[in-house]
Amino acid sequence: MVHWTSDDGKFAGKRVTVMGLGRFGGGSGVASWLAKRGARVVVTDLETADKLAASVAEVEASVEPGSVAWRLGSHEVRDFVEADLVVAGPAVPKPWANRYLLAARKAGVPVTTEVRLAVQRLDRERVIGVTGSAGKSTTCAMADHLLCASGARSHLGGNIGGCMLAEAAKIAPGDWIVLELSSFMLYWLGAGVGYDEAPAWSPRVAVITNITDNHTDWHGTFEHYAASKLGLLRAEKPGDIAVLAHREEAGPLGDRMRREASARTVIEVASPGAGARMGLAVPGSHNEQNARMAMAAVRAAMGTEAPDDGAMLRALRGFTGLPHRLCLVGERGGVKWYNDSKSTTPGSTLLAVRAFEDASRIHLIAGGYDKGSDLSPVGELAASLAGLYTIGKTGPAIAAASGGRAVECGTLERAVARIRERAREGDVALLSPACASWDQFEHYEQRGEVFAALVTGDAR
Ligand code: ADP
Repeated sequence: MVHWTSDDGKFAGKRVTVMGLGRFGGGSGVASWLAKRGARVVVTDLETADKLAASVAEVEASVEPGSVAWRLGSHEVRDFVEADLVVAGPAVPKPWANRYLLAARKAGVPVTTEVRLAVQRLDRERVIGVTGSAGKSTTCAMADHLLCASGARSHLGGNIGGCMLAEAAKIAPGDWIVLELSSFMLYWLGAGVGYDEAPAWSPRVAVITNITDNHTDWHGTFEHYAASKLGLLRAEKPGDIAVLAHREEAGPLGDRMRREASARTVIEVASPGAGARMGLAVPGSHNEQNARMAMAAVRAAMGTEAPDDGAMLRALRGFTGLPHRLCLVGERGGVKWYNDSKSTTPGSTLLAVRAFEDASRIHLIAGGYDKGSDLSPVGELAASLAGLYTIGKTGPAIAAASGGRAVECGTLERAVARIRERAREGDVALLSPACASWDQFEHYEQRGEVFAALVTGDAR
């Protein structure tokens, strides 16, 4: 059941400031949603209008002309202190120390988020919420695939893209909702950690794939990041189900995850190698883990109505993967080129490398924006690879950790060209950067598209 709360009318005539428009649909979705309910919306973002043109156009096309005002390129304190409500975007780092949000709080203006507005309108009994440092999107997409294959209706949203708030209107009773939740979203959904003083929220089925070092720039410390992620379990109710990775796969906080989930039924996922290979179309044991997590989540959600394991496995073999996640983009002269641009952490890159049978045949491209992660494990891979090619801001740091083995390329173009010169038949060329893309690209999708175009020869 979707609860279109009777107080949706409360936004009419209210001054609402949406902080952070972004490019993934969350900011534009919430701005349109509010404007359609009669709110007087101001959208403000530090990025300039030309960079945000696509999102601006999306909002303008869906609302009455003039119902949204734009403050792009900077924020202004008055938009925060004179508003009735502020909606903070997930990309705003360290929100507890943000001077505009502090000003709002001092002025008594409530602060909320798109994800909070969305979950207030979802039936938690029908929600599978997924978080983790890596594997969220794949696990979500697999769970959604399984639900659809079983004949159920499923809505996929949250951090994976789009606006769940807008989607909520299309959700019928009996539908399932698969919600990918980032640590930023979970920070805002956890009680007592921010300005949003609404109670903590947890879905009936909570999935945590793993927790490893990530996003220190946003959270400040690993502890804050981990506590935000574990917030997914905070509002558990008796009978809820936590689907947790096996200790070997969960990262350093495996035991803590179990403690935080103590009031629930805990499902442990079998460790890799425990069973026969699953025969998935997507490579790597990490994808087998994602598949097991998705199967456990669907079993937990559907109970006795869930398909049996054999049927789920057959359905999952038809899952071809998400773009930019270990996706084969070309094969030339016996060299296979894989795009794993979505890998923005050292852990993901180590896994991508392990997904292939013989590391000594891999030419790895790594480097990018500096999020503050320890990149030495990536540099140290060089000794076991056919080649390590560094790009971007963190390129020199990765090269420094490689013991002089890395080929410093600077750009993706040069890295692809160098691999072309050096790769032999049977080798694998892999873009798995271990870093965000923002130093050289708009976002990881663009980085992956540029790579694919270079590989196929479609680039300029
Ligand atoms: P997320 O949504 O958490 O960023 P994705 O499913 O989009 O995760 O996968 C991103 C990258 O993370 C993949 O390309 C792969 O390198 C790595 N990855 C995926 N699943 C796992 C997993 N279960 N454990 C560790 N790394 C993984």
